[in-house]
Amino acid sequence: MNPDIIPRSVVVKVLISEENIQRRVTELALQISNNYSVLDGFFTSPRLLIIGILRGAFIFTADLTRQITIPHEVDFMALSSYGSTTTSGEVRTVMDLREPIENLHILLVEDIIDTGKTLSYLHRILQGRNPASIKTCVMAKKPHNSISIPIDYLGFEIPDVWVVGYGLDYNNCYRNFPYIAELRAEIYS
Ligand code: 5GP
Ligand code: MG
Repeated sequence: MNPDIIPRSVVVKVLISEENIQRRVTELALQISNNYSVLDGFFTSPRLLIIGILRGAFIFTADLTRQITIPHEVDFMALSSYGSTTTSGEVRTVMDLREPIENLHILLVEDIIDTGKTLSYLHRILQGRNPASIKTCVMAKKPHNSISIPIDYLGFEIPDVWVVGYGLDYNNCYRNFPYIAELRAEIYS
């Protein structure tokens, strides 16, 4: 993307460029494809279900799944925990999966881990539905989380600032930026 069209009134700086994101997505998709294809019996049963977490992970999920070369299905869940930029600490399921997941391999695709509460919540409720396995793929991780859930595939470590772009929003805007950028504090303070 032409750096001249980065909106300086909104963004402090670009933390991860479009090129770096795309390169990393390709690497993750390759790793995921390789790891599942060596699972014994994977191509007969059980199946792989990739679950994108709405709304933040919609672009990441779309890019990732298009580069995953093994058979899989895609579904989405919508969770909610945040106000504009502050966590309420309480996670809710806004939209659930359509089908049961018993005996499926699950790959959760999430945008960002901050405190880890969202991913822990999701892991707990899905574990209760008896899938064959649950793995996690996260685009970006902030430094201070205390979660016990392992991140199996991680895109990037980022500093503890509010970021937008590549699906991530502030007040539901800026998801369309092709890079991940630090939002100006003036916008949300
Ligand atoms: P956690 O439950 O790990 O504290 O928060 C994770 C969720 O908060 C993510 O799924 C994401 O939707 C949202 N979130 C956390 N940090 C940011 C950020 O810097 N920018 C945006 N847009 N969302 C964030
Ligand atoms: Mg999210």
